[in-house]
Amino acid sequence: MIPLLIATHNPHKTLEFQQIFGSDFRVCDLSDFPEFPAIVESGKTFAENARVKALEVSQRMPGLVLADDSGLEVDGLSGAPGIFSARYAGEKATDEENIVKLLKELRQKDPTKEKRGARFRCQVALAHRGKLLQTFSGVVEGIIVDPPRGEKGFGYDPIFMPNGFERTFAELLDTEKNRISHRANAIKAVKEFFTTAPRSW
Ligand code: IMP
Repeated sequence: MIPLLIATHNPHKTLEFQQIFGSDFRVCDLSDFPEFPAIVESGKTFAENARVKALEVSQRMPGLVLADDSGLEVDGLSGAPGIFSARYAGEKATDEENIVKLLKELRQKDPTKEKRGARFRCQVALAHRGKLLQTFSGVVEGIIVDPPRGEKGFGYDPIFMPNGFERTFAELLDTEKNRISHRANAIKAVKEFFTTAPRSW
């Protein structure tokens, strides 16, 4: 079993990571290390943020560290909220506040609902003892639905319907979301790395 420290305090993300990685990996996150200082996401891209998080945590913690930076890009908002997804409606915004703001802006900028295309992106960086091993990326395409639908998941799940489905991420079963999500697609590449480059770090 491969132990992996996920550089996040978000329990929803950690749960998804554990479900996607499966029983060959033992996942824990920074909630097991409450003394660990918050990491400032000051990068200009998902990739930069993931890299900085992975390196910063792995300089202080032993073992393999995996960091992700993810977010939603909406065509009708010129790619926003993007890297600002978590704090779109303000530094401490709730998921609901972020959704309310996004839908309000989209109704104004795209009243005819022609540009509802959107995608979740996930960039993952893997590090060990302060050294970057590899980066990976995943994406899932879909559309924004208004009003929100569904109770499951987190973040923007109630307003994102992946292509090929008639249900939002918040209406899909965990197993369905975790098969097709941006995170799942990035992690497929991480698993491949472990099978093709075992213990190369
Ligand atoms: P991060 O912790 O900086 O990567 O912030 C990611 C933010 O993007 C989250 O707080 C959510 O708002 C959004 N996000 C990322 N992945 C998902 C997902 O799978 N579902 C819904 N929202 C997501």
